[in-house]
Amino acid sequence: MSSFDYDLFVIGAGSGGVRAARMAAGFGAKVAVAEDRYMGGTCVNVGCVPKKLYVYAAEFGKAFGDARGFGWETGEPAFDWETLRDNKRMEIARLNAVYRNLLRGTEIFDARATIVDAHTVAVDGRRVTADKILVSVGGWPHVPPLPGSEYAITSNEVFDLEAFPQRLLIVGGGYIAVEFAGIFNGLGADVTQLYRGPLFLRGFDTDVRAHAAMEIAKSGVDLRFERDVEAIEATLSGLRVTLNDGSSLETDAVLYATGRRPHLAGLGLENVGVRLTEDGYIEVDDHFRSAEPSIFAVGDVIGGPELTPMALAEGMAFARRQFGGMDATPEYEFVPTAVFSQPNIGTVGYTEEEARARFGEIVVYKTSFKPMKHTLSGRDERSLMKMLVDKASDRVVGVHMVGPDAGEIMQGIAVALKAGATKAVFDNTIGIHPTAAEEFVTLREPWTEG
Ligand code: FAD
Repeated sequence: MSSFDYDLFVIGAGSGGVRAARMAAGFGAKVAVAEDRYMGGTCVNVGCVPKKLYVYAAEFGKAFGDARGFGWETGEPAFDWETLRDNKRMEIARLNAVYRNLLRGTEIFDARATIVDAHTVAVDGRRVTADKILVSVGGWPHVPPLPGSEYAITSNEVFDLEAFPQRLLIVGGGYIAVEFAGIFNGLGADVTQLYRGPLFLRGFDTDVRAHAAMEIAKSGVDLRFERDVEAIEATLSGLRVTLNDGSSLETDAVLYATGRRPHLAGLGLENVGVRLTEDGYIEVDDHFRSAEPSIFAVGDVIGGPELTPMALAEGMAFARRQFGGMDATPEYEFVPTAVFSQPNIGTVGYTEEEARARFGEIVVYKTSFKPMKHTLSGRDERSLMKMLVDKASDRVVGVHMVGPDAGEIMQGIAVALKAGATKAVFDNTIGIHPTAAEEFVTLREPWTEG
């Protein structure tokens, strides 16, 4: 019999925490979970889910125009922000209940938890003990200090704005900034996106970044690279933003999407031996154990690919190993990901730069074309597809796409890459005609040979 109140106390009911808690309970552990904001965490409440719903909404913006080329007369479309926002709220409330239900069999504290010592947590005015503590507190948007930063909003607020911002300034060049630019542009706002570097989407393949920048600019977003904000001030008609090139612009809202930091404030880590990495993430070993042996961590709080499926895989591996007696370790190679911009970006494996560094000689296949749909829609948009092959083994080590449904297409390609598919396997696969995806099995001529 354990002398602790619980076998496992999970702090944070987001993607990683819920998965770990419910699997551990499934293995027979006595589990408690603390969540101080919303069941399901970032992804469900202010991340992937509302974001994708708003992306669908944004896609209608251009689709009404596209439909005319196919013979549809749609009249002048009108968009109502309150309807979208309130329907989204209803769906999220439904999902909150689903997540609460998933945690049946655990004890839920709707409260903030603080670590008191290696086996004790303060929660809801009580102190409870646990054999193991899992920190799955996720991340929090970071707004750099600058004059007027109090006027800035983040992804935490943007989904629930009272009024639709007709003019929106987005600061940041990561995938979240790019996605919000596409969302608000599609919904009809005048969107300006600033990024302080020469080209956004750092970490993605350079061709993908350049192609996405070209298409996103064509779609109507005012993209400004090598620019940053110096100050924000309120005016009678909105906000005036001064940029570092001396210019200024008027806007209704300034959305900062300049990165997320681990959500560790007030967690009580100073009371235990947990160590942080240089970047401020919780340092863990391959089995998610921190420097304090009874404390574990998964998800965004440990860094790595900050994606829901990764947090789920880590939560699952943690529960399997600690409570299911299984040898489980997630794999971090060939993690596919998408940017739900307009057009979408889908990617799996190495960028060209990384592949050259890792494999030496690689063969690059690349094609750019107008999607069939836009031959009649009249929309001026081009897709890009790129494949990287390790010359020595013929193994496909990177696949990248900018174009409609790239996120959907990339999931299947990721399975092939995980299975170690060679270029010959792709070549021997029959295409599905007519699709854009079939291009991936008909790429014959190398672009350049490295
Ligand atoms: P979270 O889901 O952040 O959960 C942490 C939970 O802990 C929160 O609910 C928080 O309230 C709670 N908490 C924190 N401190 C305490 C405390 N002391 N006591 C009690 N509770 C506490 N990923 C994708 O894979 N695909 C996407 O399309 C995607 N889109 C995104 C869009 C946006 C705008 C954002 C911000 C993120 C997006 N992500 C996406 C990333 C994804 O949301 C995260 O990777 C994922 O949620 C991480 O899960 P987690 O369990 O680490 O933390």
